[in-house]
Amino acid sequence: MTRLSGDEIRHGRVWTGFDYDLQVWVVGGVIQCCGHPETMRLGGKPCCNAYRLAGQRIVDFFHDPDNKSTENLRLVKK
Ligand SMILES: [Zn+2]
Repeated sequence: MTRLSGDEIRHGRVWTGFDYDLQVWVVGGVIQCCGHPETMRLGGKPCCNAYRLAGQRIVDFFHDPDNKSTENLRLVKK
């Protein structure tokens, strides 16, 4: 994994690197799982955004620049 300076940007999003809007690592446009231990997901709740969004394509997420809360992210309907 490279530092921010080596991030690849496509479609205005981080394609490979760390997406600060979503707070997730992205590789080839796909959100990576966080790698947190199972003990952080007691009760079946996602431990963080990365776990919840893992496997989704970064381009499927619309991000409202006026609202920094990740809770307000919407999956773009195709
Ligand atoms: Zn996690």
